[in-house]
Amino acid sequence: MERTLLLVDDEPHILSSLTRLLREEGYQILTATSGQQGLALLDREQIDVVVSDQRMPQMTGVEFLSSVKERFPHTVRIVLSGYADFGAVTDAINRGAIYKFFTKPWDDELLRTNLQEAFQRFELVRKNEQLLQVFDSTIEGIMITDAGGVIQSVNPAFTTITGYSAEEAIGNNPRLLQSGRQDRDFYQQMWHALADKGEWHGEIWNRRKSGEIYPEWLSITAIYSDTGHTTQYVSLFIDITEQKANEAKIEHQAYYDTLTDLPNRLLFNERLALALVKAQRMQWMAAVMFLDLDRFKTINDSLGHHAGDQLLVAVAKRLRAAIRDEDLVARMGGDEFTLLLPKINSKKDADKVADKILQGFSAPMSIDGHALHVTPSIGIAFYPDDGESAEALMKNADTAMYCTKGEGGNHYHLYQSTMNGEAVQRLAVENDLHSALERHELELHYQPQVDLASGEIVSMETLVRWHHPELGLISPTHFIPLAEETGLILSIGEWVLTSACVQLKAWLDAGLMVERVAVNLSARQFHRHDLIAMVEAALSHSKLAPESLELEITEGIVMNDVTANIEMLARLKAMGIKLAIDDFGTGYSSLSYLKRFPVDTLKIDRAFIRDINSESEDEAIVSAIIAMAHNLKLRVVAEGVEERAQLAYLKRQGCDEVQGYYFSRPLPADEMAKLLQQGIQAEKTG
Ligand code: C2E
Ligand code: MG
Ligand code: MG
Repeated sequence: MERTLLLVDDEPHILSSLTRLLREEGYQILTATSGQQGLALLDREQIDVVVSDQRMPQMTGVEFLSSVKERFPHTVRIVLSGYADFGAVTDAINRGAIYKFFTKPWDDELLRTNLQEAFQRFELVRKNEQLLQVFDSTIEGIMITDAGGVIQSVNPAFTTITGYSAEEAIGNNPRLLQSGRQDRDFYQQMWHALADKGEWHGEIWNRRKSGEIYPEWLSITAIYSDTGHTTQYVSLFIDITEQKANEAKIEHQAYYDTLTDLPNRLLFNERLALALVKAQRMQWMAAVMFLDLDRFKTINDSLGHHAGDQLLVAVAKRLRAAIRDEDLVARMGGDEFTLLLPKINSKKDADKVADKILQGFSAPMSIDGHALHVTPSIGIAFYPDDGESAEALMKNADTAMYCTKGEGGNHYHLYQSTMNGEAVQRLAVENDLHSALERHELELHYQPQVDLASGEIVSMETLVRWHHPELGLISPTHFIPLAEETGLILSIGEWVLTSACVQLKAWLDAGLMVERVAVNLSARQFHRHDLIAMVEAALSHSKLAPESLELEITEGIVMNDVTANIEMLARLKAMGIKLAIDDFGTGYSSLSYLKRFPVDTLKIDRAFIRDINSESEDEAIVSAIIAMAHNLKLRVVAEGVEERAQLAYLKRQGCDEVQGYYFSRPLPADEMAKLLQQGIQAEKTG
C-alpha cells in the first residue's frame, strides 16, 4: 500500500522544500496551507502521517492536530515548531494529540528517518488492530498461555464455546477444561509434540463450564523468544459437536437402511466376512438366511407404497424379535432380508430361528387399518457345508429361498446342491416370459363347470398355458406369479380376456350351448386403473354379451382395501358382468364383508374338497360355506372335484356346480368344443 503524507504550512516555500526533501522516499505527498484545508484533504484521502507547522494564522498546528486526532485517530501526527511554542506542544504531546515534534529549522537526515519510523508505527498499529479484530470476532476459540501454562488471554469465542468468561479463565490453568476422557498418555504425547515440533493438533474432548463434554478440533503453537525459549502457547480450537453428529449420521446412513433402520447390504457383507474369518479360525458353523416376502408386490400394488413401507417396517420389527442378540438381520432392498447366525452348534439351531420367524409372521399385521397376513419364503445355507465364501453362501441361500417360493412360500428350505438347476431355470423362464406373447407360446385351455341339477356344462374356466420352446408346458402356478412381479400380467391378462371372449362368441355363433366363460383376474389386473375400459374393449371387440362373461377374483385380493374394491366390483357388476370369488376359504375373509361384495359366485377352494370323506373338519366347513353362500343368494362352485364320493357329498349339501378332473381336465379349444357338443355322460352326474 502506498504511504501517504500530508504536509501543512502557511508558507509555500517551506512546503516545497519539504516536498523536495522527501520526494525520494517514495511517499505520495499532499500539501495544504491551512488547518482547514488539511482537514478537507483528510476527509477525502486515506492519509497515514500528518506533518504540520505550529504557527499558522487561523488555526495553530496543535489545534489542527487535536481535531485530526479526534476525527482520524489512526493517523500519526507530527508538529514542526520553533522553541518558542514548546509549552503548547508539550501539552499536546501529553494529551496524545501529537506523536513527535521537530524544531525548525530541521535536520534533513533526522526528519527523514523519523518519518520512516512514523510510517512504520502507523503500519504496526494498524496490523495490531486488525489482529485484535480477528481475535475478537473469529468463531475459533483462542487461548494464550505463558510458558508455564497460565492463561494470559482468551477471546470472546473462547467464552462462547467453553462458558468461562475472560476473568474466570485468565490466571487459571487449561486443566480447567479437561474432560477426563483422555488419559495421561494422550497429554504426554501432546507435550512431546509441542516440545519437539512446537505444534500439536488433533481432536480432544473438553468440558464446558456447564459440565457438558464436547469434542473440539484444537491446534496449539509454541511462541519463541529471540533466544529460542518458549514464551507462550497459542491454542486455537473449534467446537465440532455438530460435525461429529453429522459424521455419525452419515456413517449410520451408509450402514443402515433408512426405512427400517436395519443394517443394510454393506454392513451385512462386512459382518458376514468377519464372521466367516472367525468361524474358520474357531472351526464352528455359521448360517446365512435369505428371506423374501410372499406376494409383497401384490400388496404394494393394491394398497400403495405407503402401506408397503409400513409393512416392511413391521416385518423388520418381527425379524428383530425372532433372532438372538449375536445374530444379525439386514434389509438388502425391496422385500428382501438376510440373516446371519455367526455361530451355531448344529443345523437345528437355524431350524429353530426359521421356525421362530414363521411363528412371528403367523399373526396378521395391522397396516393402515387392514389386517394383512404376510408370509415369508426362507432359504438357508451353512458354512462350511454349503460354501466357504460369502458369495457362495449368499447365492445358495438365495437358491434355497427360491425353492421355497416355488412351493408356495411360507416356509423354509435348507440348501441342497440339487437346487441349483431350478434357480437357473427360474431365471431363464423370467427372461423368456417377456417374449412369450409375441412368439404365440401362450394357449388357452378351458375347464367345464357342470350344473349338478341338470348335468349340463353351464360354464367353463379359462386357464392359460405356456408352451416353452425348451422346457415344454409350464404351469400358470409357476409363471403367473412371475408375470405379476414383472408387470407382464397386464398384457398377458388382456390377451387372455379378449381371446376367451372371442372364443365363446365363436362357439355360441356355431350353435354350441353354454352360458358363460370365466376368466381369472390377478391382483395387478384388478387394480389397474383402466380395468373397466379394458373389459369394455374385450366385450365390444368380441361382441359378446356381458352376461356371458364371469371374472374370477381371489379372496385375498378383494379383502385388501375392501371399500375401494367394493366400488370397483360394483362398477363391473353395473356393466352386466358376473363376478366370482375364487379360492374361497384360503384367505382370511370375514363373512360380514362377503355380504357387502356385489358378487354372484363363490368358488370353494379345492383344498377343502380334497379332504372330503377323510374324516377331517373340511366336510363341516364345506357344508357351512354352501349354506352361508345360499343365504347370501350366491351360486356355489366346488373346485377340484376328482372323485365320485366328493361329488355325491357336494350334491347332498346342495352345491350348485362343480369343476374338476372328475368331469374333465382343462382342455384345448378344439377338445372343449367337442365336449360341448357331446355333453357330459349322464352316468357321470348320476
Ligand atoms: P384357479 O383359478 O383356482 O384355477 C383352478 C386350478 O385348479 C387350475 O390350475 C386347474 O387346472 C386346477 N384343477 C381343476 N380341477 C382340478 C382337480 O380336479 N384336481 C386338481 N388337482 N386340480 C384341478 P391351473 O390351470 O394350473 O391354474 C392355476 C392357477 O393359475 C389358477 O387357479 C389361477 O389362479 C391362475 N391362472 C390360470 N390361468 C390364469 C389366467 O389366465 N389369468 C390369471 N390371472 N391367472 C390364471
Ligand atoms: Mg380361477
Ligand atoms: Mg381357484
